[in-house]
Amino acid sequence: MENKYHHQGVGREMQKALLGQWYARLSRAKQENIPVAYLFISGNIGELLRSFGFELVFPEVNALQCGIKKVAGEMILKAEDTGYSSDVCGYVKNDIGLALSGNAGPFGTLAPPDLLVCTYSGCNTYIKWFEALASLFKAPIFMLDVPYTREGRFREEDKQYVIAQLKELITVCEKLTGRAFDEKKLKEQLRNAAEAEEIWAKILQSARHRPSPIDAFFEAVFFMAPIYVLRGTPECVRYYRAAWEEIEERLGHRLGPVSEERFRVVLEGPPPWPYFRAFWELFKKWNVCVVASTYSKVGGIWDFGFRHDPSRPLESIAEYALNCYTNLNWPMRQEMIRKYIEEYAADALVIHSVKSCRSFSVGQADVREYFTKEQGLPTLFLESDLVDSRYFSEAQMRNRIDAFFEALESRFQRESRRGGVPDPARA
Ligand code: SF4
Repeated sequence: MENKYHHQGVGREMQKALLGQWYARLSRAKQENIPVAYLFISGNIGELLRSFGFELVFPEVNALQCGIKKVAGEMILKAEDTGYSSDVCGYVKNDIGLALSGNAGPFGTLAPPDLLVCTYSGCNTYIKWFEALASLFKAPIFMLDVPYTREGRFREEDKQYVIAQLKELITVCEKLTGRAFDEKKLKEQLRNAAEAEEIWAKILQSARHRPSPIDAFFEAVFFMAPIYVLRGTPECVRYYRAAWEEIEERLGHRLGPVSEERFRVVLEGPPPWPYFRAFWELFKKWNVCVVASTYSKVGGIWDFGFRHDPSRPLESIAEYALNCYTNLNWPMRQEMIRKYIEEYAADALVIHSVKSCRSFSVGQADVREYFTKEQGLPTLFLESDLVDSRYFSEAQMRNRIDAFFEALESRFQRESRRGGVPDPARA
């Protein structure tokens, strides 16, 4: 029988191939004399570093890869053996364990850093994390201090402060690589970044359709990888053009991530990586589609309009760093979630609170209270961890998820009989 779909699966396949090529380059970097910089995803300044020829390593991405491949447990224990407490972020301990294992993980053996750029956006754990790596690898560290966005918008002086630091970083990169700053190259990177951002925002916003063609959490974590690790490169742009064709085809055929979309939810918080599949299945069973998530915004909130701007290179990099999700205060994050619920017509809010990450979890109980009491929205609060499987109980998760959607289903049925809230299966 002739296959009527021509683009399905392309997003996942290309993503896998691109990440594989990127990790292979990182394994060869030392032999090929390519400088390597380590930095964080949130508010990252990858385009600037790439314009100097650096290959980039993102330790959180390595941690989630170890989590999903189920080797994070041994890395974490290695770090705990050297004295890291059980309360320290699992991502940090995974990374320390990885460094102590010769930087060899399921993705190959990574080149050590020539430079550590601590983009301090929203999480102060980053500072201690990179100080530890600087000492383990005997590598120089550059601290890019990004002020927390506290008043609904960053201040102009905060932006100028970040720009001044970017100029200092340019001098550091020039000395380290022996290359002069090439503004033309940087602008080219930012042009590519803006194009990829435009398409990615369009993909995320496609979830406003009913049924949604994409799960904006469980699928988005794969679709978003290239814009996080390869943003600014031509292959990243090619990826999003191809991914959009897949989404467009799904829209045309009313294809979605679940066989029959029954519940639309917004999800706040990161995934439990070692149990990613099992966690997803617990929602799929109820035909739940996540139509918007905050985790898919940790690398940038492009769906609210931000684009890198090649005509204002350093300014737009600074604005991006200041504006990332974990750098926003809780009232701003709460407002963002409220907008998602409204614009994406969500039936409920699911909060996945992880023990490791205070940057995400602090304030989530208040957010739940706000949505339950002030907005009258059904909310489900789940707890586990990003990478530490000692904090994940599948049976407990299943019970809570089943009970929640069972109650939600009965509520919809009751209210639709009374002519109130329509049944969520409405198309
Ligand atoms: S606490 Fe959260 S944001 Fe901070 S390093 Fe750990 S996972 Fe990342």
